[in-house]
Amino acid sequence: MLAGTAGAALWSQPPTLRIDRARLRRDIEALSVFGRPAGGAFADGVSRIGYSDADIAGRNFVMGLMRQAGLEPRMDAAGNLFARRPGQDNALPPILFGSHIDTVRSGGNFDGVLGSLGAIEVVRTLGDARVATKRPLEIVIWSCEESSFAGHSLNGSRAVVGALEKGELDLVSDGRPKHEAIRRIGGDARGLEEAQFRPGRFHAYVEMHIEQGGKLEQQGIPVGVVQGIVSIDHYSAVVKGMSNHAGTTPMADRKDALLAASELALAVRQIVTAEPGAQVGTVGHMEVWPNASNVIPGEVRMTIELRDLSADKIQRLGAKIEERARAIAAESKTEIVLQHEQHLDGAAASPRIQKMIEATANTLGLASIHLPSGAGHDAQMMARIGEMAMIFVPSVRGISHSPKEYTRWEDCGNGADVLLGTVLRLAAA
Ligand SMILES: [Zn+2]
Repeated sequence: MLAGTAGAALWSQPPTLRIDRARLRRDIEALSVFGRPAGGAFADGVSRIGYSDADIAGRNFVMGLMRQAGLEPRMDAAGNLFARRPGQDNALPPILFGSHIDTVRSGGNFDGVLGSLGAIEVVRTLGDARVATKRPLEIVIWSCEESSFAGHSLNGSRAVVGALEKGELDLVSDGRPKHEAIRRIGGDARGLEEAQFRPGRFHAYVEMHIEQGGKLEQQGIPVGVVQGIVSIDHYSAVVKGMSNHAGTTPMADRKDALLAASELALAVRQIVTAEPGAQVGTVGHMEVWPNASNVIPGEVRMTIELRDLSADKIQRLGAKIEERARAIAAESKTEIVLQHEQHLDGAAASPRIQKMIEATANTLGLASIHLPSGAGHDAQMMARIGEMAMIFVPSVRGISHSPKEYTRWEDCGNGADVLLGTVLRLAAA
């Protein structure tokens, strides 16, 4: 039985209970000192790399907050932190909610932190108001979410859904193999199998997060209801022309690989923007040979990346780009080999929980829109085994993964209020 909830009323109506905004802000500011540049201030951002000393210090701080909230933190073999608040029927699977507190190098103070400390604030608010829930509630702080371990991201959440790659535990980052990094923060790679979630481990997973894009701020909307996390298709293209003297080869006789590659890059934009929707396409990398001012480029290697909620749509756009590449090659007398390198599965958010988030925002008098997440999150791993949803709040100027990352305190509070209301609705369902 949870101390202090005896005789508490079970909310039958969606309540308009609100979190303590000043307390949430104090916690975010207090956590920001772990990994802060020497002599810096809050605005200088943070480097709290997963499994680092700063990460360990931050995790200890968070476990302290959990204990102050009357919860007993538990760490699994992957180093994920959990804290459970009992419900009235503890045989029921819990509502799982939280985020991560590790950051990229020279990152901001809100990515992951807001959803993590917001989750703790939700439980504290319920404790203060002596509100009991039918289902148990469980906070989770995922370990090493950012791509900071040998380029691998979502490390803790992938571990619990059995999505670690073969040999991944022996990968080395900062001079340490992954199994040792996990042990360093209190986990144990030998127990990873037992740490795996069984189907039905949770009733629903909810993550509140900053948008990391500029849509909400541009439209003046405080709450984003995430439709899902986008699928990604990676392509490589090799354009082969002919290197020749830049002074003696007439324009008509050239096979310029860079000109053809440039046309292909423009075609990506044209094809992606030719139909309505939130799909995006990017040529982010190009290598030119021989890359000399007086030689016609003979070969270009480039990448093409397509993202959208619909895997079918980006597959279709990829086929169009391939068709255009053939035409460009014929026109420019070059050879273009386009190869599909990788498909990353996206994840759909639960329509049922999206409705609850929207209704909660409504009750609080907050406008909301539905939007996709163009970035990856631990939530996409949870979607593999259960219902998942995400709540977005505005990122000022859409900046993230930077010390300039900022979300207005008012928006932080709104996000935590919406998380609280959504969790209450789910816990009563
Ligand atoms: Zn994040």
